[in-house]
Amino acid sequence: MSDQHPASGHILVVEDEPAISDIVSTALRYQGHTVTAADTGTVALDLAMTIDFDMIVLDIMLPGLDGLEVCRRLRDSGRFAPVLFLTARDEQDDRIKGFVVGGDDYLTKPFSVDELVLRVAAILRRAPDGQPTEALVVDDLVLDPAGMEVRRGGTAIELSRTEFRLLHYLMTNAGIVVSKTQILLNVWEYDYAGGANVVELYIGYLRRKVDDGREPLIHTKRGAGYVLRRPQA
Ligand code: CA
Repeated sequence: MSDQHPASGHILVVEDEPAISDIVSTALRYQGHTVTAADTGTVALDLAMTIDFDMIVLDIMLPGLDGLEVCRRLRDSGRFAPVLFLTARDEQDDRIKGFVVGGDDYLTKPFSVDELVLRVAAILRRAPDGQPTEALVVDDLVLDPAGMEVRRGGTAIELSRTEFRLLHYLMTNAGIVVSKTQILLNVWEYDYAGGANVVELYIGYLRRKVDDGREPLIHTKRGAGYVLRRPQA
């Protein structure tokens, strides 16, 4: 994708199903990451309290201490390694709960290993406080988080604060389809009552400012969400 040399890190993989744990660990090691695996929530919590992981891939359904509780206890003790939750299919509740306890993203099982690798890279690109320190660049679109500036083809684009946050989220996840729920939870915070219509409305505003009269970067994936990516030749 956009990152030829993604940041590598030390990742804790927590999954009680050996087949999934092996596939995930192998894929992440192949990307250059160091992987420590745990198969229970208790072991995961012990490890994460002693080792400063760059991120945690955390299955929710675990025997004993579940993934949500592991994340809650880590956050309560001031440990903020980003958490990518693995949720069972159609457990919408788990996704919401995951964000409430301080998770950063989620993947629904079954997921493709490629998707997991992309999401891990996107999370590692973000600085610890959730804001990248360097400018985000996709094709001729440049977003500078420090100066709150956006340019396309060298031309400055004026965005509202919410539009800026939305574009920032889409660019951080460039090349990855993000659902309306994910956008809502990350850009508006989880308890926003307006729902998916607000996401559609703001995607419309952004398109008018960023894509109008140009090669479109923001694409709709019907039934799945949105993806910001460079034009495909
Ligand atoms: Ca499990």
